[in-house]
Amino acid sequence: MIDTIEKANGASLTSKMSTFDHEQLVFCQDKSTGLKAIIAIHNTVLGPAVGGTRMWAYTSEEDAVTDVLRLSRGMTYKNALAGLNIGGGKAVIIGDARKDKSEALLRRFGKFVNSLGGKYITAEDVGISTKDMEFVKMETDHVVGLPDFLGGGGDPSPVTAYGVYMGMKASVKEMTGSDSLAGKKVLVQGVGNVGEHLVDHLVKENAEVIVSDIYEDRIKKILSKYGVKAVDVSHVYDQKIDIYSPCALGATINDETINKLTASIICGAANNQLANEQIHGAELQKKGILYAPDYLVNAGGIINCYWEIIGYSREAALEQAEGIYDKTLEIFEKSKSENIPTYLAANLLAEARIHAIGNVKLSF
Ligand code: NAD
Repeated sequence: MIDTIEKANGASLTSKMSTFDHEQLVFCQDKSTGLKAIIAIHNTVLGPAVGGTRMWAYTSEEDAVTDVLRLSRGMTYKNALAGLNIGGGKAVIIGDARKDKSEALLRRFGKFVNSLGGKYITAEDVGISTKDMEFVKMETDHVVGLPDFLGGGGDPSPVTAYGVYMGMKASVKEMTGSDSLAGKKVLVQGVGNVGEHLVDHLVKENAEVIVSDIYEDRIKKILSKYGVKAVDVSHVYDQKIDIYSPCALGATINDETINKLTASIICGAANNQLANEQIHGAELQKKGILYAPDYLVNAGGIINCYWEIIGYSREAALEQAEGIYDKTLEIFEKSKSENIPTYLAANLLAEARIHAIGNVKLSF
């Protein structure tokens, strides 16, 4: 999906939008605050477009457009597959988050979001913090991912971790017939917010956990709290393990790592784990490595946001995240019966839901 939009570089904006059928692209500019932002609404068949705002020092406007088109489309698939009644959107603010951010800029951005009347609901993403969202919220109610004291759902990481845990149990069930993780050797790469909560679930189920992180203090904390083992970041791919759980960065399944991995299951929170969906998705299938699609198993975060829109309840969010177990099994079933990679089975299920609900909406 990324390739095709990038290949359209140089094409007119409307032809780029038509590549994946985006609905609306909004360019926002404000001289006094220095704001330059783009809001992309990909698809609103299921409901208002929801997706975070990323602040990034793009080297060109074309890169920013490509990114926002790609990310907003990704949100449509994620939201649809998770069974949520929201569509896909995303925003990018062009600038260096460490230097160019100010209260005025964020509030001006909030006004632009507000001008869309709820068709786009924003949240935080790379370069944008919860604190920043508080400024955006001063100008619009179309914001989710807020702290508890502002009526939000607070930190989504426990819900995300629970969803990944559910996806992992479903993966083990698919491989072995039992969903018990007891005795399974799981490597969690990245023990930040999500990784730590995941380790907690795994340890409670007596899995054999190995962690890896670039920050020594994170490792120290996790080792002392959970009594697990650690491995240096340079040795992640040569460990003999059952399950590899990427919870740090994307694109860790690539030409270099795919032949080193000993795991029979991949299931983690990181976004865009496959460096190239088509190539590496198919290769994993050929190798018999079961890949739980990242955007399904990490949907707990957006599920948490969704409950902010319809009336927040942490219990309800966790219960919905539990549904990731069944959905993961459904994807594996489709992958087997149609002999297609799991990422593709996930994409097709997401498209089928949008299509089916779109038809339902045709009648009053
Ligand atoms: P985080 O920043 O809290 O944690 C990431 C951890 O990974 C950090 O401790 C960091 O030091 C570590 N790390 C970075 N590079 C590494 C490397 N090369 N090797 C090992 N460790 C490394 O982020 P998070 O909120 O825990 O999210 C983890 C991943 O899950 C991210 O990719 C994020 O986009 C994705 N995700 C998070 C949520 C959520 O609710 N937080 C929801 C959906 C997806």
